[in-house]
Amino acid sequence: MAEKVVIDEDFTDKLSDWDESDVGKRIVKRVTPNGTYFNELIVQVFCQFCASEFIGPAREAGGFLGGHECFHAWEISQAIGREDGLVE
Ligand SMILES: [Zn+2]
Repeated sequence: MAEKVVIDEDFTDKLSDWDESDVGKRIVKRVTPNGTYFNELIVQVFCQFCASEFIGPAREAGGFLGGHECFHAWEISQAIGREDGLVE
């Protein structure tokens, strides 16, 4: 079968250990302590500050991006603090 971009929904049963081959597929059902996710898209994202990459459910990708943004904002605030002599 020739490789091509699949436009139709492509589902996966994998509930962890996603990689490039899973990007664009949907997870039929994913149970977490916070709730049950249905038909969730697997995406690949990266942090524009430190180039870390993430492949996984869209919900977790949001957490990855938000977490890195928060962390790097903290890093910057620390650096600025030191330059201003406000730390120590
Ligand atoms: Zn980062």
